[in-house]
Amino acid sequence: MAIRIALAGNPNCGKTTLFNALTGLRQSVGNWPGVTVEKKEGRLKGHPDVSLVDLPGIYSLSPYSPEEIVARTYLVEGKPDVILNIVDGTNLERNLYLTTQLVELGLPVVVAINMLDILLKNGDILDTGTLSAKLGCPVVAVSALEETGIDDAVELAMLAADKKPKVARHHYSGALEHALAHIEEAVLHDQPENIQHWYAIRLFERDRKIAEKLGLTEQQLAHIEKDIAACEEELDNDSETIMSLERYDWVGKLVASSLHAAPKEESTSDRIDKVVTNRFLALPIFILVITGIYYVAMHSIGAFITDWMNDDFFGEMVPEMVGGWLEAWEVDEWLSNLILDGIVAGVGAVLGFVPQIFLLFVMLGIVESCGYMARVAFILDRIFHRFGLSGKSFIPILIGTGCGVPGIMASRTIENEADRRMTIMTTTFIPCSAKLPIIAMFAGAVFHEAWWVAPAAYFTGIVAIIISGVMLKKTRMFVGESAPFVMELPPYRWPRIGALARTTWERGFSFIKKAGTIILLSTILIWFLSSYGFGEEGWGAVENMEESLLAGVGNAVNFLFAPLGWGDWKAVVATITGLIAKENLVGTFGILYGFEEVEEAGNEIWAQLAASYTGLSAWSMLVFNLLCAPCFAAMGTIRREMNNWKWFCFAIGYQCGFAWCVALCFYQLGLWVTTGAFGFWTVVALALVVLCGYMLFRKGYAERMANSSPVEKTVG
Ligand code: GDP
Ligand code: MG
Repeated sequence: MAIRIALAGNPNCGKTTLFNALTGLRQSVGNWPGVTVEKKEGRLKGHPDVSLVDLPGIYSLSPYSPEEIVARTYLVEGKPDVILNIVDGTNLERNLYLTTQLVELGLPVVVAINMLDILLKNGDILDTGTLSAKLGCPVVAVSALEETGIDDAVELAMLAADKKPKVARHHYSGALEHALAHIEEAVLHDQPENIQHWYAIRLFERDRKIAEKLGLTEQQLAHIEKDIAACEEELDNDSETIMSLERYDWVGKLVASSLHAAPKEESTSDRIDKVVTNRFLALPIFILVITGIYYVAMHSIGAFITDWMNDDFFGEMVPEMVGGWLEAWEVDEWLSNLILDGIVAGVGAVLGFVPQIFLLFVMLGIVESCGYMARVAFILDRIFHRFGLSGKSFIPILIGTGCGVPGIMASRTIENEADRRMTIMTTTFIPCSAKLPIIAMFAGAVFHEAWWVAPAAYFTGIVAIIISGVMLKKTRMFVGESAPFVMELPPYRWPRIGALARTTWERGFSFIKKAGTIILLSTILIWFLSSYGFGEEGWGAVENMEESLLAGVGNAVNFLFAPLGWGDWKAVVATITGLIAKENLVGTFGILYGFEEVEEAGNEIWAQLAASYTGLSAWSMLVFNLLCAPCFAAMGTIRREMNNWKWFCFAIGYQCGFAWCVALCFYQLGLWVTTGAFGFWTVVALALVVLCGYMLFRKGYAERMANSSPVEKTVG
């Protein structure tokens, strides 16, 4: 018989770690809440008929946020055969709250107390027997990380799935039990016995959805309303609060009777947090950490390896080798051109950055798994909040540092629709790993490999997010209070080498895979378009690239980018191909600048780039490409998450417009300051700065409406 086991628990309690250990799959695990936003299904290793479902983390079954709804809907309506409730043993009080709800659902439940390794290390003693007796379901202690006890947990779950569940019948206080009994009697007696209690509680909390599902008449509702009101009167509270207080009371008793905690001194985590989240030190430390990450990945070791990859490996060794083969096989000239000048030059230019990308992923992996990223969300929330923005936006942005697609998807944890849309629109401002080669290319070619280029790009992204957020929040479209952001800081943990190597490899490999597929196809296309065109003798291969079809396309839209300082058709074309995948920009440059021989020693492409760009125009180009519409994959995700074409178009339009304005201001004002050149576009740039200042500092929409005179209101 096939069995379905649902893994349910609070965010960050180790569900995904357990899921991966049991299924052998590799879902991403992060030491912060909100990593799993969709449910994932997998098969139990060695038991093809047993499937496991990893649900998003939830604090309770009274859903407030989208991921809580996903989880509850699955539990109540998907009817798994058994629930395996993962409980963070280091935070029993908080985690058992959900457990008290799960055991009432009428489904078999097995509780796995996770993080046994930490409990043992702390010297805490947990009495699973007592807990099991009081909860009315099997309880085991496990460590998902060290994979201890997890087989027992699944075995218990499989056993429990076969049996008819015994529903926990906790006795609440007299008045509440009285009301619940009345509700059961009045409207629930023909429901299956094991779920009556759960329904009664839901109805007591005035859950309209459940009432609808049960098809209760207005009359019946009015009848039970009397019981609810009587109980509220007696306990002097509203029904939802009564219920949650009663649950906390229950949880308190559970913990008191089963956990004998060793006396705690201040933990190392707390001591680290005192420094790391300190009001004054937090921000400098954050800046230092980010700069350090990019410094190591892009500048020190990373740049060293990449130079070798670009100059020697893909610059000489590979072309020579491939060229030799092509000659030996007497390949047609056009094909050998395509392979050498197209594929090797284009894909090679992208692959040259693989070592740096891997290093970045290792570094990001370390700060993620040790728990620092969670602090970053906390620190930035403090800053964000000051600007009236939701700190919850920061989880998507942090995830977006790896790749924008999961970043945008993580915006689902934001309840407030306006904030969610705003986060979707701005998440890709943060440089994802695919933009890294662009940054590295410009840093290497134009900025003499200066260490500050990559961190500067990162902070440009953050500032762009904050500025956009503040401006948008003051418009009518995004008005509204931001929900407070409550996040529990997980304890610091040493990163595990195995898990770190695995996530790094997965992320890095998907980069390589992209180079072998989408980038490869794009480079072939670019090569054709840049080698063929309508020359003097009509259609055919062109001697001079300036006559190619690609140059034609680039030149046609050139004027749009000329004020930004890089209205060269090559840059325009590269930017357009960057919309397919950001790495394409580098690949396209590889092809377009790879043709002519350059006398200088060193990297040809870079030398040519350096000759075509000034510091200002390079930075303008870089900024535009960091902020403008993301790649196809991310745009598709924006489309899905917005679920509305108008919003999608608005988002893409905003991103491109914003990028254009920022690049323009930067270039024109920079030019003015450095050379004194003043013209029409300088005036436009100044006007944009003033407009931006106005949008930032004017009153919010709600305030503006409140202050407008009554006459205006009636007229308007
Ligand atoms: P989820 O949000 O419930 O899916 O939790 P994750 O599986 O993403 O894990 C959250 C964090 O807890 C990660 O940093 C894990 O490495 C860590 N973790 C999970 N299980 C254990 C465990 O048994 N012991 C320890 N020490 N850490 C664990
Ligand atoms: Mg998870």
